[in-house]
Amino acid sequence: MRNFVRPLLLIALLSILSFPAFAITWLPEDFNCPLDGQKNTFLVVGSYGSYIYSYPSKYQWLFFPRTDSPTYYTCKKCYLTTYMWDFDKLPKDKFDEIRRALNGVSVSKNFKEYTELPVTERLEIMEKVYSVLGKDDDWWETFYRTKGYHYGKEGKPTAAAEARKRSLQMIEAELERKHSDSPRKLSLYISASMKHFLGRDNDAIADLETALKTPYSEKGATEEDIKNAEAGLNERITDYIERIRSKDQKPRLFDASGTRGDH
Ligand SMILES: [Zn+2]
Repeated sequence: MRNFVRPLLLIALLSILSFPAFAITWLPEDFNCPLDGQKNTFLVVGSYGSYIYSYPSKYQWLFFPRTDSPTYYTCKKCYLTTYMWDFDKLPKDKFDEIRRALNGVSVSKNFKEYTELPVTERLEIMEKVYSVLGKDDDWWETFYRTKGYHYGKEGKPTAAAEARKRSLQMIEAELERKHSDSPRKLSLYISASMKHFLGRDNDAIADLETALKTPYSEKGATEEDIKNAEAGLNERITDYIERIRSKDQKPRLFDASGTRGDH
């Protein structure tokens, strides 16, 4: 599950190795809501393959399952909404605060399956829930980038841009920090991606060119891991620069086309 939460080095490694391809499948599973005991049937990941790392969502450094609707669980009774990996792991001592955060939350329609609710509607509830869980800037940066992705996919460019600006602010603050655990080369890729999706192509290319010249580093990684990550990321960066410079392959042109990117 770690690679779902923080796909850094592993992704870059996977991009240049070949793995057997399994289709993305989801299986129903029952969950009791931690706040009110309501039984909900949610979907859990049955299988997926490494091809998810080459889907166009890579141009926002986002990957399955964050890109997929079933990942966002919503209780049908109290509307508690979390990432699927957090739903039954919320800290008990935060339940009261979460209940208060959910006060007044409503949903746009009566739903039988939670996936009937737009992902962005679920993300807006999630934002309230996680605001009391003490998440760090790195967590929120990914959250806003994810929000931008889903608003983009739903064809809502204004809300998408708003979320992406917040992500960019946070990644820029991260890049200004002298001491950081995040690989700088990857942070530059992410800041470039947000700039590109915000229409700032020259700034995006400048970041990507800096990224190309920035050696990959990650705490605790072996020399070989670093070599592979370096090569994997350089390949992605070079491709990104070419696409931004192209007329009709700019990644943001396909904002609303979803993760499969049949373009
Ligand atoms: Zn509930």
